Amino acid sequence: MEDYRKNKLKEVLILLKYLGFDKIDRRLSNYSPIDDLIEEVIKCTKCQLHEERTNAVFGDGPFDADLMVIGEAPGGKEDELGLPFVGAAGRELDSILEGAGVNRKDIFITNVVKCRPPGNRNPKPEEITSCNVYLREQLKIIDPKVIVLLGNAALYLVTGVMGGITKFRGKKVEYLSRTAIPSFHPAYVIRNPGSRDIVVKDIKKALRNISEWKG
Ligand code: URA
Ligand code: SF4
Repeated sequence: MEDYRKNKLKEVLILLKYLGFDKIDRRLSNYSPIDDLIEEVIKCTKCQLHEERTNAVFGDGPFDADLMVIGEAPGGKEDELGLPFVGAAGRELDSILEGAGVNRKDIFITNVVKCRPPGNRNPKPEEITSCNVYLREQLKIIDPKVIVLLGNAALYLVTGVMGGITKFRGKKVEYLSRTAIPSFHPAYVIRNPGSRDIVVKDIKKALRNISEWKG
């Protein structure tokens, strides 16, 4: 699919060149900066997580979403399919989103690290740091109005310390000059079903922030 689109684009560019347009303005073509970023992530070898991955998981959702949800790392199913939150934690996330009145199709979902840590171990701080360049670029391009940080690895982006989600959840924090709301990770919710309503509440709080932003 992606190759088909690229080949079509190449055809058009060759035709334009043939017609005398030697310097093609990239903005006139189908070019989107996110395409380059996706390609970089897919090929990335910046940390050791690339060694055992099947697929890097860039993220999923509209590239102009108002809400960005950031989880921890791809698990087995995510690694297999190249999509975020498609396993058990994903089913839990879907149900949480439904509870908050959010359609998954309207939000952008990604992770702190784009490749699966072996055996689903926690990502190491140096891996989070290596991968952060991609998250920063995603934020720049997608420019969401609010971010939800799910779990301690996502909260680490803000605090630089691993831990503390119980203390920070539901509180407005700032990540790269943007409003972010930390909450429990869906995998935690699976183990502690009583926390589900809390995550729903935190996501609703994030949504209120979008309405305030829109005025
Ligand atoms: N857990 C995460 O943090 N992200 C996923 O994509 C899947 C499970
Ligand atoms: Fe690159 Fe991130 Fe994957 Fe590490 S986790 S290899 S930095 S894409």
